[in-house]
Amino acid sequence: MKKALLITLFLCVVVISHAQKLVVLGTLQDGGSPHMLCEKKCCEIELAHDYVSCLGLIDENDHSYFFDATPDFVNQSRYLLNLSGSGAFSIFLTHAHMGHYSGLIHLGREASSVDAIPVYAMPRMGTFLSTNGPWDQLVKLKNIEIKGLNDGQKVKLTNSLSVTPLLVPHRDEYSETVGYLIAGTQRTALFIPDIDKWNLWDRDILEEIKKVSYVFLDATFMKEGEVARPMSEVPHPFIEESVALFRSLPLDQRNKVYFIHLNHSNPARVKNSADRASVEALGFHFAEFGQTFKL
Ligand SMILES: [Zn+2]
Ligand SMILES: [Zn+2]
Ligand SMILES: [Zn+2]
Repeated sequence: MKKALLITLFLCVVVISHAQKLVVLGTLQDGGSPHMLCEKKCCEIELAHDYVSCLGLIDENDHSYFFDATPDFVNQSRYLLNLSGSGAFSIFLTHAHMGHYSGLIHLGREASSVDAIPVYAMPRMGTFLSTNGPWDQLVKLKNIEIKGLNDGQKVKLTNSLSVTPLLVPHRDEYSETVGYLIAGTQRTALFIPDIDKWNLWDRDILEEIKKVSYVFLDATFMKEGEVARPMSEVPHPFIEESVALFRSLPLDQRNKVYFIHLNHSNPARVKNSADRASVEALGFHFAEFGQTFKL
């Protein structure tokens, strides 16, 4: 009897260790914190693993996927690959803003000099990388292999895991911008680190929240006036606006929301702050480094 119990426990551990999971690898806006030339209190916060917005995914074969290659890619990849126990990985890119692809620089000859790492990218993003230095060298030397994506077209990663890019409106200077729908064995997640405003999207975010198990959404700024520059130059849904929109959802739907991609200036970065508490009191969450989510 005891032996049977031990065997069951052992099998459980094996099954759990090979379950598909999402891992939060970073929560900050592109410029991170400390932020270049910021002398304010917001950049005196010292937290371990305070990295730029990134989601990791480990599949049932221990292959890792990074949703964006951030300026903190070295530390984030070390963490995720240690967790997976395998060195195999691929990358999905959302867009060509510095926080989302510049970590690719560590894959070239001057650094890890990897061999044919799959980099999933939309058409303009792929062309941008292939035709502009220094990224084109990664392509020419076959450090990376660009895998083309199309809006709304599902990419099957394993028998029970798929990723679908969804175009979102954003300042698309060099590439399109996508969010990702990640569908696992039992659960699904939506990741949109950057979008201009919810009402500019051709999808209804409230309906999209209802369809999935978890959402990780753009929470760059708390509210209007947070930074001393015209905020219309850098549009994002303010947390205040998202909360006003999402609060009509029932609690079980609000519980799915994890805010991510917070600017250094965002007061909700501070745990126990009034801004953060008021959002959490309504059932919403803030993504935190190391959180894992079963799929
Ligand atoms: Zn960003
Ligand atoms: Zn700051
Ligand atoms: Zn962006």
